[in-house]
This record gives sequence, C-alpha cells and structure tokens, in this order.
Amino acid sequence: MEAFNKTKKQLLDEYQVNQKQGLTSEQVAKRQEEYGPNQLRESKKKTLLMMFLDQFKDFLVIILIIAAAVSVVVGIIEGEGLIDGIIIIAIVLLNAILGVNQEQKANNALAALKKMSSPNAKVIRDGKTIEIPSHELTMGDIVLLETGDYVAADIRLLESTNLKTDEASLTGESTPVEKDASIELDESTPLAERENSVYMSTLVTYGKGKGLVSAIGMDTEIGKIATMLDAVEEGKTPLQKTIDQFAKVLGVIIIIVSVVVFLLGFVQNSFEFELELFLTSVALAVAAIPEGLTAVITVVLALGMQRMVKRNAIIKNLSTVETLGQATVICSDKTGTLTQNEMTVRRVYDLDNVYEITGNGYETKGDILLNNQAVDLSHNLEKIMQISLLCNDSKIESANKILGDPTEGALLVLAAKAGMSVDNPEDKYPQLNEYTFDSTRKMMTSINEVEGKNLVLTKGATDQLIKKCNRISIKGEVREITSKDIDNILKQNEEFSGQAYRVLGFAYRETDTPKSMDLEEDLIFVGMVAMIDPPRVEAKEAIAKCHKAGIRVMMITGDHITTAKAIASELNILKEGGLALSGEDTRNMSDEEFEEAILKCDVFARSTPADKIRIVEVLQKNGQVVAMTGDGVNDSPALKQAEIGVAMGITGTEVSKEASNMILTDDNFASIVSAVEEGRTIYSNIRKFTIFLVSCNIGEILLILVAMIFAPFFNDYLPLLAIHLLWINLMTDSFPAFALGMEKAEGNTMDKAPRDTNEKLLNKETLIKVSIQGFGLMLAGLAAFKIGLTIDGRFQATTMAFIAVVFGELLRAFSARSETKFLFQYNPFSNKFLNYSVFISLGLVLLLVYIPFTADIFNLEPLTIGELLIAMSLGIVPMLFGELTKVVQKGNY
Ligand code: ADP
Ligand code: MG
Repeated sequence: MEAFNKTKKQLLDEYQVNQKQGLTSEQVAKRQEEYGPNQLRESKKKTLLMMFLDQFKDFLVIILIIAAAVSVVVGIIEGEGLIDGIIIIAIVLLNAILGVNQEQKANNALAALKKMSSPNAKVIRDGKTIEIPSHELTMGDIVLLETGDYVAADIRLLESTNLKTDEASLTGESTPVEKDASIELDESTPLAERENSVYMSTLVTYGKGKGLVSAIGMDTEIGKIATMLDAVEEGKTPLQKTIDQFAKVLGVIIIIVSVVVFLLGFVQNSFEFELELFLTSVALAVAAIPEGLTAVITVVLALGMQRMVKRNAIIKNLSTVETLGQATVICSDKTGTLTQNEMTVRRVYDLDNVYEITGNGYETKGDILLNNQAVDLSHNLEKIMQISLLCNDSKIESANKILGDPTEGALLVLAAKAGMSVDNPEDKYPQLNEYTFDSTRKMMTSINEVEGKNLVLTKGATDQLIKKCNRISIKGEVREITSKDIDNILKQNEEFSGQAYRVLGFAYRETDTPKSMDLEEDLIFVGMVAMIDPPRVEAKEAIAKCHKAGIRVMMITGDHITTAKAIASELNILKEGGLALSGEDTRNMSDEEFEEAILKCDVFARSTPADKIRIVEVLQKNGQVVAMTGDGVNDSPALKQAEIGVAMGITGTEVSKEASNMILTDDNFASIVSAVEEGRTIYSNIRKFTIFLVSCNIGEILLILVAMIFAPFFNDYLPLLAIHLLWINLMTDSFPAFALGMEKAEGNTMDKAPRDTNEKLLNKETLIKVSIQGFGLMLAGLAAFKIGLTIDGRFQATTMAFIAVVFGELLRAFSARSETKFLFQYNPFSNKFLNYSVFISLGLVLLLVYIPFTADIFNLEPLTIGELLIAMSLGIVPMLFGELTKVVQKGNY
C-alpha cells in the first residue's frame, strides 16, 4: 500500500502525528537523522583534482610545460641552466592553483546564493505554524499549502478547499489538476490521477490545503524520475561570450606574433635552434593570451552578487548582473514595493454614513467614530465586520504584527476594533468553501456557516464587485440596486481613492448550495472600507535616481486608478501632464494604439497579469530592457518574459520567486535601484580590468616583437626572458586587475543613460585605447633596456626593462581606476585592494632583484641607485599614456 490508498487515519497513526499539532521537535530531529534532508541529489560536482587538471587544458600551457621539461633535460645533459625550466613549471603550477582557488570562490558564492533562493514550506510543528526551508521537511510533517506555493515533498492531503495544482513538471500535463483530500483511491490509480495527493516540484495554482509528508528527497515521484534540478550548468554570460571570442582572435594574433618572434630570432641566429628563444616565444604566447579573463569575470560577477545580497537583492544567475546595468525601464508594483504595505483602515462607509477609525498600524486599540462619537454598529457595519473577519486568511500574531496579506490584516484589526473576537473565528463560524483572491477577478469569497445560515461573504475592488451585486442594503433594508445607487457608490469610491486610500467593497448573500463554484453572483452590496498605505520614504529618492540615470519608472498596479495616481504623483512617477491608464481603457485598443499609449504611460492601474505581459512585450519590441516586478502565480509569465523578473521575497508566492531572476529580500523598490547601480558598477569594473589586462599584454608583445625587429639596435638580446614574462603575467598583472574588479562605484554611475545593449566591450574605441596604453608600456620597457645596454651589461639592462615594465603596469593600474576622470580628480589611493596588491607586487620584485639567490635564479642583476631610479621613472610613462586616453575619451562609462 502506498500513501494515496491508505486512509487518513492509517497515515496519521503510522507517522504518529496529530493533524493539529504536527510533529514535535524531538520527532523532527530523530526523523531528519533517519531519513536525511529533503533534497534531490544533484549531478556530480567537479572534484578539486578535476578543476586543477582543467587549468591545463590549454594547448599553449602544455607546450610551455613540454618546453620547460626539455630545457630541464638539456640543462642536465649540458650541466647548466636547470633552474630556468623548474621555475617555469613552478610558475605554471602556481597559476593553476590560483585558478582553482578562484573557481572555488565563485562556486561557493553561487552555491550560497542558490540556497538563499530555494523555496520555503509552511509546516505545523509543536502546534505552531512556521515557515522552513523546504530541505528541512521530513516524513510525517504536516504541511499547509496555499495558492502560489511550491509543493516541496510528496504529500497526502488531509484537507483541501478548491485545491488545484500544476503538475506539468511531473506529468507534462499543462492544465491545472483538481485535488480533493476526501477521495479514496485504489492501488492501481496512475500517478496523474491521484487526486488526494500532491507531488514535489508541482505548483499550487488555486485554493488551499493541508497534508502529510509521505515521501521526501529521492523517494518522491520526481526523485524517482530524477531528471529535474539536475543542476543546470550555468552557461556563459553574453559578456563572457564576446570576451571569449575576442580572446580567441587576440590569441591567434599573439601566436602568429610569437611564431614571427621565434622565426626572426632563428634567422638572425643563422638558423640555429636556441632553447632560450623558443621558451621566450612560448612564454610570450602563454603570458599574453588573456585566456583567464572569463574566469576572472565570473569571480567578479559572483562577488558582485554577494554584494547585492547585502543590499537586499538576491540574484539567481550571473548574466542578470550584466543585464541589470542595462535596464532602461522598471515596471513596479505599487503595493508593498513603492508603498510600505502597512495598511490601516481609516474610513468605513455603510452606504449611509462615513465613519472614522482611530488607532495606529496593526494595534487593535481604536474606535469607530461618527462625528467624533462612538456609535453602535448599524446592520451594514455588522456585515462589513463579519466579512472582514471571515473572508480573511490573515492572522494577528501579536500586538502590532500580522501574518499574511496586509490588506486582510488591516481588516482583521478593524473587526477587532469593532469588538469581534479575532482568534480562530472559524471554530465558531465553520468555513464551508473559499474562492481565493486573484488579481484578475480582484475579489475573494468565503462561505461560512453563521448562526445556522450559509453566508457567501465577498470583498473586492468596488468597481468589479458592484457588477456582481443585484441588491443593496441601506439603513437595514434590502432592495434592488438602482443605477443611482451605483453612481453614489462609485462617487464615494472615487472620493476615497482621490485621497490615496486603497478601497475595498463588501457584499454578501445566503445560499443553499455552499459547495458550488459559482456563488459570486446576485450579491447584496453593504459598503466600503478605505485604508491607507503610506509610500516608502526611500522610494521617492530612488525614483529621482532612476530619472537621473535615464531609467523610466512605470507603476503597474491592480489598484484603482485614482488611488494609483494619487500615490504616483506623490512619488513623482506621474508628473504634470503625464499619462495614467486603467486596464479597462486599453482592452479595446488596437495593438498600435496600445503600443503608443504604453510608451508614454507612467501609471497603469487595474492591471491584470495578462496586461503585464502585453506591456513587457511592447516595451521589448521598442528596444527597452525591462525590469518587471510581480508577486502572484499569474505574474510568472511576465516575470519570465522580462529581462529582469523581480520577485518579492516577503510577500511573493514561491511560484513567482521560481520564475524570477532576482528576489528582493525587503520587497523594496529602492533595492531594485541599488541592484541596477551595482550592476552598472560591476560592468564598468569589468571594463576597467579588461582594458588594463589586455593593454598590459599588448605592451608585452610589442616589447618583444619590436626588440626582435630591431635586434641589432639591442645588441641582439631579448629585453625579457620567459620567466620574466610569466612572472609579470602572474604576479604583476593579475592582482591589480582583480583589485580593479573590486572598485567601488564612481560617483557618477547613476548620472548617465543606460549603456546600449549592442555596445561591445571591446570595440574600435577600446581597442585604440588599449593600443595606446600598450604602446606606452613598450616605450618604457625598450627605453630602459636600451639605456641599460648603453651604461651597463646585458642582464642589468634586462633588470631595468623588467623593473620599468613592472612599475609601468602597477602605476598605470591607478590611472585605470577611472576611464573618464583624471588621476588628480580622484584620490588614487582609495582602493585598498589595489594599494595592497601594488605594494606587495613591488616589494616582491625588489626582493627578487636584491636577494642574490633569487636574482640568480631569475637572471637578474642588482642595479645601482641611478639605474634603479631611471627604470622607475620610466615606469611613469605608461601611466601618462593611460591619462592621455582620457583626453580623447568620448563615451560615457
Ligand atoms: P496591487 O498589489 O497592485 O495593489 P492587487 O492586485 O493586490 O493590487 O489588488 C487589486 C485590488 O483588489 C485592490 O484594489 C483591492 O480592491 C482588491 N484586493 C486586494 N487584495 C484583496 C483581498 N485580499 N481580498 C479581496 N480583494 C482584494
Ligand atoms: Mg497585491
């Protein structure tokens, strides 16, 4: 027998659990120990050894190692120069170790983020309802399910109300399946028809339920198939792809240059093979080809993602970090994102009088006043309170804190102020049926047994609800609704909305068929409630920032247009003469009209999820990069369609979190803007270090190539040898480059328009910059070498060239900290990572030169003070060239 064909009692007995209390902490601890975590096994991870070996996949590195090994062998046979080869091999190994270290760093950061964005489950344990990460679920746990939840284990239902799940991930069936806890099934029922159970990886699209965990982890149905979640390998981001491509082109050029260098030397050397020359050519190729660039970009993106978490945005994949910097439109919800989502009812209208409600926030202290006098509840008021109490899924947890939807929390507080008992009202008034709220209908209904009668209790957007009412209750009398009544109601509705109140209408009726599905009809309208939801203080500032940064902000809300406009004006989203639209206005528009309207519109009210997706599509068609927020199940398509789908961490459904690229842990609009700012900073940092690294490499190539072409001028000597090139590549370029990747935002990051999506990081302009800077580096190296040759011996000259190049690169790193500002316009020493890495690199080089042992190994000679000063001063040249490129810089980076 399996869980689906046992009775509820059998199951509860078998798992020794009480349906109301859930498991005890001791039971949970014991079972977690016994059954392990509720996780699907992930595909195998790369081992450290595999990562290490991966570093040697590169063809050139292999040649270099072979060449080094050959040189060791030759060294042994000829009894000299053994050390050269060993050093090369050591440097290559060290490089590989650093590579592994970086890869691990990035992997760890990504794994931590993945954990943060994994779904939660609501369980009852020790008699309390709590939310836990779904991997902590264990056998026999009592789980609560509601619309928008992700089913986190295989669960046999104990209770259900209109529950529907989407089982596409499991069975491929794309229409939602109805579930019913009361159904008994026989053993042979196939998976797709087991209506009394829900399964891991499926989604609750409607209704609610309660059930018992009957299988976890790999024992679940999805685990048995074990295909899903087989950790999709994260592909390369668009930026990485273009850089990869560029690195390939550059690589080919460098290999050609290296071959030319070798052949030139070969000819000049009267066609005799020379190991030193060969090693240098290969080392040149290895050092100059930026094959590690994409790996560094991964690390910088991953660390950037970690920084974004601190600013309340969890990013789910690396490419979103890049896209964020390009965002041109942010379409934001109103409630909770732009507003505080702390609702307080201020006015109640019973179709006779408007009452004032006193009190603060969710505190249940307060009164219902008419002309400053406390009053007895009218018939309509009583009905409004009943609906507030029973058509409500929220809970007052403690003084001033509610669980669930804030709109409903506010209504519960209202009911409490009216003197109703708000603890477990369903014990007294059993719920017979419920239609959950959805943002298309914009209403919600609960059917309860109240004093022997079955009441349909409905609340929702007034303009929608009124269409479902054919009667009205006024001053204790129920009669047919007239068009004048409707006008009056809508007028009052407008008046409340104009004062930025969120308004809900209330209606009810009796029924004989409480279980049926079409009860939201023929209702009796009883009144309205108006609540405030103040705008977030930080939202206004964030919106101003967006406008300055050339990013359009559009408010898309399910709320009434007047309410939406009032709040949008307060936040400066809607300016004088701006356009605000209501969903209904656009239903009959042609595609062209709709497009034209959307491109101008700042506020879109009474939206449905279908509108959202239509809006994203129109914007994208017009070349916009869209960030779109959403919280409901139905928002998923729009979240998926937008370049940046943004889900709400606190109030969002698990389904919307699944569908998004980014989750706000504080539901705050300002956090989206911070993330955009961070995204822009990361991109500009990637530019900075890419340009820096590539220009260093080009400088090195030019140095060797030009020295070979003009060999006689340099006494037929190479300015730098293989080990020097490798040292510079590993110890001098990479640390400052990495430090540039950690740069803080330059003050003007949000003062310029978003970058063009078609902009290539390495375009003609950057190539020119890179070449100018590389040229500067070459000049410094060659000048130092020539002067050295003139005043001293060959290896003193090499040492001078080495020092000039090292100094040149390190000093230039300071200039590379900004592409637009000159060195004197900012504090060059404010990046402490850079200061450290420069300091350490410099120190190491001076040690190399002045410790006889290492100098010997590296073929370096101690310099006189004069020589050292000359080499170091030449090191300033590349920095000057770097500054020079800022003069011609026209772009806005
Ligand atoms: P938003 O989140 O953009 O403010 P919603 O889709 O949540 O918009 O709400 C749209 C309208 O639906 C609101 O103006 C309100 O009248 C109504 N509404 C909101 N929440 C509920 C609820 N829990 N029950 C019934 N009606 C609701
Ligand atoms: Mg909402």
